[in-house]
Amino acid sequence: MAFKAVVIEKGEGGQTVALKDFDESGLMEGDVTVRVTHSTLNYKDGLALTGKAPVVRRFPMIPGIDFAGEVEDSSHPEFKAGDKVVLNGWGTGETHLGAYGQKSRVKGDWLVPLPEGLTTAQAMAIGTAGYTAMLAVMALEAHGLSPERGPAVVTGAAGGVGSVAIALLAKAGWHVIASTGRPEEADYLKALGAAEIVERGELSGPAKPLAKERWAAGIDSVGSHTLANLLAMTRYRGAIAACGLAGGMDLPTSVAPFILRGVSLLGIDSVMAPKDLRLAAWRRLARDLDHDKLAAMTTTIPLESVIDAGAEIVAGRIRGRIVVEIAGS
Ligand code: NDP
Repeated sequence: MAFKAVVIEKGEGGQTVALKDFDESGLMEGDVTVRVTHSTLNYKDGLALTGKAPVVRRFPMIPGIDFAGEVEDSSHPEFKAGDKVVLNGWGTGETHLGAYGQKSRVKGDWLVPLPEGLTTAQAMAIGTAGYTAMLAVMALEAHGLSPERGPAVVTGAAGGVGSVAIALLAKAGWHVIASTGRPEEADYLKALGAAEIVERGELSGPAKPLAKERWAAGIDSVGSHTLANLLAMTRYRGAIAACGLAGGMDLPTSVAPFILRGVSLLGIDSVMAPKDLRLAAWRRLARDLDHDKLAAMTTTIPLESVIDAGAEIVAGRIRGRIVVEIAGS
């Protein structure tokens, strides 16, 4: 039986991507087969769809690094047919056939149950970007930081990780400073909970080893000079959670913030995060993320539009989160 999927192939002329019929016999090994109802578009999906970075490491590939759906068939002890599930990362869309198809076969150990209180569409409105934002908030908390210590800065604020991070930090009582290259999105960011807006250019030039202390905590999607500036402007014993590279993979900084202000740099990885951490993050997302704010940051597109949307997210033109509707496509 064939199903509809976005398929990336590699030929002599380079990478091609198209919506096609994909035969079920081509699915990879796994003990759970899922009827995918929703996926989403993350920055990494944009890199895979455009071929701008070598995200895809197996061809043909069905891209898409996360999905939500219903178990069709399972030999895994924790899941049975009809269960609603969520998957983030573990190499789906990179080394394992991913989410932009009506079916996916994966290891049951990679799945988490759909958290109570969320629909599959809402789980993908959150997606890997939102789950990563939650991991970053939890890392700052585990470091002992709380809103009494001072403001929290969020970079790449109008993007997916940024939008969810603002809503979560504001809900937890933080004074949120949102850094964006799109000042026209100020009202959107304030509605999510940002108290102040900083123009992206203020933080994107070469950083001094230390600068005036502006925040106690931060969540950074951008990397490069922006992350270096965040560190240089962090208060004594504060911390920055680094999760992204939208502005570059380098980090032109010095040890000054670490050895003179006791600042910490917390690394955030969502792809291989252990299951207990995933379950805790999804529980918190179901509890703490305001559904109206989630709806306000979300746009829904059909599967056939995801190829064009991939180029848009890499160009930094997508606001908030994109849900990709798969069931019925
Ligand atoms: P988005 O494209 O939705 O958001 C990124 C935002 O960064 C943009 O909206 C824009 O925000 C800002 N931005 C874009 N280009 C530049 C630039 N050249 N310089 C400075 N800022 C820029 O992506 P996601 O939210 O999905 O992902 C954000 C980052 O986090 C990506 O790098 C992604 O790879 C990474 N990521 C990492 C994960 C992990 O496990 N560590 C998991 C998920 C994501 P604005 O217009 O407001 O300035």
